[in-house]
Amino acid sequence: MGKVNLLGLPLGKLEDFFDSIGEKKFRATQLIKWIHQEGQREFSKMTNLSKSLRETLARKCEIKLPEIVSCDESSDGTKKWLIKVDGGSCIEMVFIPERERGTLCISSQVGCSLDCSFCATGKQGFHRDLTSAEIIGQLWLAADSFNQFLKNSPRKISNVVMMGMGEPLMNFDNVVDSMSLMLEDNAYGLSKRRVTLSTSGVLPMLDKLGDVIDVSLAISLHAPNDDLRNSLVPINKKYPISKFIDSARGYIEKMPDNHRKVTVEYTLIDKINDRRHHAKELAQLLKDLPCKINLIPFNEFEGSGYKKVTNTALNHFRDILVSEGYTVTVRTTRGDDIAAACGQLAGNVNDRTKRQKRFKERIQDIQPVKVLDTIGL
Ligand code: SAH
Ligand code: SF4
Repeated sequence: MGKVNLLGLPLGKLEDFFDSIGEKKFRATQLIKWIHQEGQREFSKMTNLSKSLRETLARKCEIKLPEIVSCDESSDGTKKWLIKVDGGSCIEMVFIPERERGTLCISSQVGCSLDCSFCATGKQGFHRDLTSAEIIGQLWLAADSFNQFLKNSPRKISNVVMMGMGEPLMNFDNVVDSMSLMLEDNAYGLSKRRVTLSTSGVLPMLDKLGDVIDVSLAISLHAPNDDLRNSLVPINKKYPISKFIDSARGYIEKMPDNHRKVTVEYTLIDKINDRRHHAKELAQLLKDLPCKINLIPFNEFEGSGYKKVTNTALNHFRDILVSEGYTVTVRTTRGDDIAAACGQLAGNVNDRTKRQKRFKERIQDIQPVKVLDTIGL
């Protein structure tokens, strides 16, 4: 039998594991601190564990991380890592630095089965779910690369968003386990407001989510009516918009504190969903949902068949929503030169040079939009 990988086990499961080998449960807290606060991977160096326990752990267990294949840095400071997971597939992880904070965007699956028509990950098809070790391993690798495990070193990663490759609610248990490590005080200790799960609407799982974890919720809406959304987000045919909004409201209503808001993500695609009547319909649709709206200019990729929203259409769309009383942020396109922007993640190993050439050809066409917030959460 292979070794047990302890990297992805949240506190409760690690306590059960220690129990199963006849050890006291508090060992779990000690081990979690070693792995996720000290960045220690060698049992022999975990000095507050007895020698015999260290030997047992080395014999039976491992702390196995995915492997960094490459790291690109964009001219705007955005970083993108290509990471190899077991079986040889690659996933991508992106870090977006901001003035006061930094957001790490991590993947939950290799590919995605939901096939949204405007998403590069969807076009790639579904390969497999990531394990909780592979999900939390992304945060570990990023923290390590920023020297966050060293004493007194500044915390660069203040926010984590499950907005990389994959649909997190299609990999429910592993995503919940890894998010609980993100929140765990003895691990990364991130605030629940700064860990965000984004979903395109897997409703049975969204309805369960609030029973097991309390994080921020972002819903990928992209259209104000079922006809249009059916053509962009195929899962809408199974779980239509009105039910999606009810479930999202149900999620925040389960949370102990009031004042919670859902982030509504709306990717604006030229002439598809960016017309004034769409904005008005959206304003009407969301009137009973405590929310803020995050507009995402569509990021182009080869073969998508769609074009990015124009600045004029984006501004009109935003102004209509603002005049209806909504808080609206516009997500700036970051890391475009390294294809690290939303929906451009496809785990490609060999397209770096091609992409950078393409970007140089295109950069002249990109006009600045009024920046309200980078990620907009
Ligand atoms: N599967 C989840 C999370 C990953 S996608 C979801 O769909 O919510 C993260 C966000 O990027 C989603 O809002 C998604 O709709 C958006 N997105 C996907 N492709 C995009 C593209 N080409 N341009 C802009 N945003 C895109
Ligand atoms: Fe999957 Fe999200 Fe892309 Fe849709 S937008 S295909 S749900 S990753």
